[in-house]
Amino acid sequence: MGDVAYQKCIGHGCGAEFSVRESYFACPRCGDLLDVRYRWDKVGVPTRLAGFERRWAERGRPLSFSGVWRFRELLPFAPEADIITLGEGQTILQQADRVAPFAGMNPGQLYLQYEGLNPSGSFKDNGMTAAFTHAKMVGAKRAACASTGNTSASMAVYAAINRTISGLVFVGSGKIAYGKLAQALDYGVATLQLKGDFDACMARVQQVAAKFGIYLMNSLNPFRLEGQKTIMYRVLEALGWQAPDWIVVPGGNLGNSSAFGKAFIELQELGLIKKPPRIAIINAAGADTLYRVVNDEKLTWNGGRTDDARIKAFYDRMDAEGRRAKTTASAIEINRPVNLKKCLRALEATGGVVEKVTDQEILDAKAQVGRGGLGCEPASAASVAGTKKLVARGVIDPGERVVCILTGHCLKDPNITVNYHTRSDGELQELYKDYHVDRASFANRPVVVEDNMDAIVKVIEGLDQ
Ligand SMILES: *Cc1c(COP(=O)(O)O)cnc(C)c1O
Ligand SMILES: [Zn+2]
Repeated sequence: MGDVAYQKCIGHGCGAEFSVRESYFACPRCGDLLDVRYRWDKVGVPTRLAGFERRWAERGRPLSFSGVWRFRELLPFAPEADIITLGEGQTILQQADRVAPFAGMNPGQLYLQYEGLNPSGSFKDNGMTAAFTHAKMVGAKRAACASTGNTSASMAVYAAINRTISGLVFVGSGKIAYGKLAQALDYGVATLQLKGDFDACMARVQQVAAKFGIYLMNSLNPFRLEGQKTIMYRVLEALGWQAPDWIVVPGGNLGNSSAFGKAFIELQELGLIKKPPRIAIINAAGADTLYRVVNDEKLTWNGGRTDDARIKAFYDRMDAEGRRAKTTASAIEINRPVNLKKCLRALEATGGVVEKVTDQEILDAKAQVGRGGLGCEPASAASVAGTKKLVARGVIDPGERVVCILTGHCLKDPNITVNYHTRSDGELQELYKDYHVDRASFANRPVVVEDNMDAIVKVIEGLDQ
């Protein structure tokens, strides 16, 4: 592909360009984020998005079976021989009629894009297949990441199926959800449990990567975002190539929202869609950096001229005040979102908004998503809780078409689900006192019953009343 793809610094006044055969993860001149860019006239993209549908007839080919590489002309940075795939992206869009009333939406207008169906149970696989592919292109032997859990689980899967690149994951101690830690251990990846939080892991993994020349799989890796663009292509495909009015997504390191924005910017450049959906990004109230940067500080992309001095001043103040992210939605418990500036670009390009929701709202929304048949982890449910709030505030109209991204599977964090459904409100309050959770509004409590037929009959008869 040589010339077709290149890397370009997003920094205003820099814009340095590099080959995709190199791996920097940050601009070597100015330290800003890198984008993967394409010379579209050399690619041969189908003239209509529906052109991708013929790939459904070639599902015997791994590259057409993958829900990421099915769209390979829209992320053409790698030679096909280097692509590492295991059929990620076989995910579904559910018309969520049982969840719509909870969110205040009209019947038929709320959809859930279930990325929990990926091989490692989260959307991260969309990006990991792309980043492993790039790692192979540059001849990497070892790859590393810091993770709140799902990146490490995904990396562990791709390291397991690929014999030439081994993995190394850094997780914070005590913070990681059990389903995610179980995956890293079971898939056999080398796991360092650091005595520190996610941000500490992130700082260390960058030092280690620099010291040993290890390939970095973290969110600042621009190739991951290329894979994550395909979540939007699949949403469009499931809606008959009609863009919805809104995409609602939880915001952590802001890789997804950045990737979604890039996907729509490119589809517009290519003339493949007319108007992008608006992107609503939902922070947890206890990890609300983006919310404050956008809604309080009024920082914007400003056509690329971001006010970096004010972003820095904001972080300095955050540190001075000793503010640390705190939410039960561990996948979005992040202080300094790596992709902040790309996310500002996505907001500007799509007329996006940022909302925040409490852990109580997240856990109640999660229970409603579960009742609708697609279980998700807490971070994912922020999208539904955020939709409910934006409808209540009149930002989203109940008659608009809304797609919430369910980023991870219910089994990722079984402890919180079981606690929600089994503990009394008083116990919840005690267990989650730092998170301001004090009730389970939609608890489905197991009924404790004697091992005795009469007692069981009584319980069952009671269910129907
Ligand atoms: C990583 C992750 C997020 C956060 O996504 P970003 O792209 O970092 O904003 C949200 N939900 C789940 C389940 C995740 O694993
Ligand atoms: Zn630069």
